[in-house]
Amino acid sequence: MLLYDSLTARQKPFTLPSDRPISLYVCGITPYDTTHIGHARTYLVFDVLTRYLRWQGAEVRYCQNVTDVDDPLFERANRDGIPWQDLAQREVDRFLADCTALNIAPPTYFPKSSTEIETMLPLVGKLLALGHAYEREGNVYFAVQSYPSFGAMARQDYAGLLATANQRGNDPSDPLKRDPLDFVLWQTCKHGEPTWESPWGLGRPGWHIECSAMATRYLGPQLDFHGGGSDLIFPHHACEIAQTEPVTGLQPFAQFWVHTGMVYLDGEKMSKSLGNLVFVREAVKEHTSNALRWYLLSFPYREAFSYERKGVREAELKVAQLTEALQVKGGSATPLDLSRAREALTTALATDLKTPLALEVLAEMAQRILSAASEGANLQAAQATLADLATMLGFQCSPSTT
Ligand SMILES: [Zn+2]
Repeated sequence: MLLYDSLTARQKPFTLPSDRPISLYVCGITPYDTTHIGHARTYLVFDVLTRYLRWQGAEVRYCQNVTDVDDPLFERANRDGIPWQDLAQREVDRFLADCTALNIAPPTYFPKSSTEIETMLPLVGKLLALGHAYEREGNVYFAVQSYPSFGAMARQDYAGLLATANQRGNDPSDPLKRDPLDFVLWQTCKHGEPTWESPWGLGRPGWHIECSAMATRYLGPQLDFHGGGSDLIFPHHACEIAQTEPVTGLQPFAQFWVHTGMVYLDGEKMSKSLGNLVFVREAVKEHTSNALRWYLLSFPYREAFSYERKGVREAELKVAQLTEALQVKGGSATPLDLSRAREALTTALATDLKTPLALEVLAEMAQRILSAASEGANLQAAQATLADLATMLGFQCSPSTT
């Protein structure tokens, strides 16, 4: 298949390996708030990628982490006066329930940062030994100047990188840093935050090193696909590249960097900080899971779009037609042949995961079955093909009654 790689900024061919499993790592949630439609879109896209690869017979090892060692979680737990572990567990449970409601298949590995500290320490130690990191008063920083291509995936000059990093939590005025863009690998903690033992004293890891450690532990030193929302390209994924490649000695860390576009509501990016969220939990009360899936996959995965209820209601009609086509009674006249449509659908997915086109073909197949039914055609093979492809795209189909 062809898939767009954010690092090289082009579509590249991916050939299914015959002698090994495929590895996919997708950055997971920080469990301090409820899953919104923006998250759902990202995890649905990777759900379809995984299903499509598995449908072709590949073994896919999919690792998705839980970032339960991070500032927003500790701040929220502190604000609400509850232990951070309890808050994290509650939100992880809710996230899993939301994924189940959307028929998103669970990842193969689902590690939590808080139980992977031992995996992170050797990486930090090795970066220090290699001269890519330095220690200051119990903090360890990655030296971005030691890695000339740092931030290449963001395609910005130094000033642009710094501005983006600052918007996304970087502290440029930290007096312990050599360069304002240097980022934390290990840090001392504020009073009351959880700490772990390390060669540099009590503290906790930085967010970026958590993902490098879990990805390499569960999937190996090089990945086929590394994914996440497009807001993770910089600094998060750039930092992952810079701190992983020197340790493994292998480039690129991921053969494909795959990023999903943001979801907007009323012209603004849907985000916790803006408070303009549509929660999955609420959306599944109003719409069927199949219609939400159809709607969210009807946009090119890399593009941003604005969430509209009207669009989900329209998707409801497509889903109803799909169900009807799977259940309509056929006759004994000439069988309906959908093999060319089947090929068109799989070609759409093989061409940079064009889910909007795949859904158009799926809808057309359903229409053709319904009109062939009125002419008494034999529908057995056509309905089996439709059910197979709909299931491959993650729709929950009731069995055919023919
Ligand atoms: Zn990550």
